[in-house]
Amino acid sequence: MSAAPACPACDAAAETQIGRAGVCDLWRCACGLVFADRATWRDPYAANDYYDPANQPAESYPLQVTATERDRIASVRRVIQDGRLLDFGGGIGRTALAARAAGFDATVLEDSHKAVSDGRAHHPEIEWIEGRTIPDSILDGSLDGITLFHVLEHLPDPRAVLAHIHRKLRPGGLLLIEVPNWGSHMRRLRGLRWLFVLDHHLNHFTAASLTRMVESSGLQRCAIEFRRTFAINEAQSWKEPLKRLLCLLGFGDILRCSFRKPAS
Ligand SMILES: [Zn+2]
Repeated sequence: MSAAPACPACDAAAETQIGRAGVCDLWRCACGLVFADRATWRDPYAANDYYDPANQPAESYPLQVTATERDRIASVRRVIQDGRLLDFGGGIGRTALAARAAGFDATVLEDSHKAVSDGRAHHPEIEWIEGRTIPDSILDGSLDGITLFHVLEHLPDPRAVLAHIHRKLRPGGLLLIEVPNWGSHMRRLRGLRWLFVLDHHLNHFTAASLTRMVESSGLQRCAIEFRRTFAINEAQSWKEPLKRLLCLLGFGDILRCSFRKPAS
């Protein structure tokens, strides 16, 4: 058994080695976070562009917003109704397009050169920033909202990103985070064969461990929601009420939490 690595959420030595996932070992900390040992983990996308056609099906432009992105922005609008919204790790920009359609001034921050160059060409109504960090040109305290849809589970140092986000938000601003839900009954049933145990997922959160880590960066949780699956299947939208019921019973594989920066 290897030495226990330090937890990326609280710095304590991890408590339990829970098994191997792909190239690295997963550990659980007393704070609740499950994480990949950074000493052995390697980023499978380090050498190539995630949105390269070799890795992803080609998108057809202009993009069409789906029920999934509208549902995400409905969660944003339960906390803030307008202003400047940055989608961190926003991919090809579909969620930002839904935000713009709802009246937000929308920006995508994305490290895929292909996603950003395609986005700039086809959707200039959105501001596009290529990179992994919010640039200095966006002033501290100037953003009304920041969203991270399926980003935090990929980050080697999530606390550093949360500290930066805290700086960039205005007082009262929203941070909305969506991640796979390690606390779901489906994960318990499937163990390490659960569909979100992937070699590019470094951090696995429950509602409690996510809340603990984000609140340690100075934000306060204001809402929590669960979804059964990653995306709404519009062709089978009649299944959505059934999925909501399964979420109430603890089978929600997707965790969506809203946090606010305190007003003063
Ligand atoms: Zn910890």
